[in-house]
Amino acid sequence: MLDSYRHKGLRKKLVETIRAKGIIDENVLNAIEKVPRHWFMDSSFLEFAYEDRAFPISAGQTISQPYTVAVMTELLQIRKNDKVLEIGTGSGYQACILSAMGAKVYTIERQKSLHEKAKIFLPSIGYSTIKQFYGDGYKGLPTYGPFDKIIVTCGAPHIPTALIEQLKIGGIMVIPVGEGGTQVMQTVERITDTNIEIKNHGYFRFVPMLEDRNEK
Ligand code: SAH
Repeated sequence: MLDSYRHKGLRKKLVETIRAKGIIDENVLNAIEKVPRHWFMDSSFLEFAYEDRAFPISAGQTISQPYTVAVMTELLQIRKNDKVLEIGTGSGYQACILSAMGAKVYTIERQKSLHEKAKIFLPSIGYSTIKQFYGDGYKGLPTYGPFDKIIVTCGAPHIPTALIEQLKIGGIMVIPVGEGGTQVMQTVERITDTNIEIKNHGYFRFVPMLEDRNEK
């Protein structure tokens, strides 16, 4: 796949835009500079790949806005070798950002067509260590947990209990919570076996987190 000097230049600019909006974690900014976002979009949208906005992918879904990806990734406080569960593989862009930061990534997608596309695409661009699953993110991946970090990339009506249970003590989950058009970005830190601490981090817009798998 092509990654020209022009694309690299546009990516540098995008990183400066995101930095100006308040992102300070250099590891996050480096990953955004490294991963060619235009590879994750349909060719007709190439020119939009480095604008700071969300974009439609297939199956009525979207690739999140780069700033939103940056905020969520920064809130996760990623350290090398962290075991991270992502709900909502979509294009696979967020999973690659986490992998580029040295995380061990597990990602679940409920839309079969998106899962099948990413399953072939991510290894083809060098991200073969990302483990991809077709399933319902509300259930998480009980046999692979617990995880250091969990990131939910769709708007959840509530915080799924199964996901809290799959978080290590001291682990962090970032999840946009709310039904309808707007969600509040929340971090859930698992303090002890029975205690969690929830914090709010502003308002964002996500496609909804839906129950069960979709066979199409
Ligand atoms: N992280 C993606 C963003 C995709 S948008 C990226 O970087 O491109 C959110 C995705 O969550 C959609 O693909 C949607 O199909 C998926 N999704 C919604 N509900 C889900 C669920 N219960 N389990 C797994 N994935 C879900």
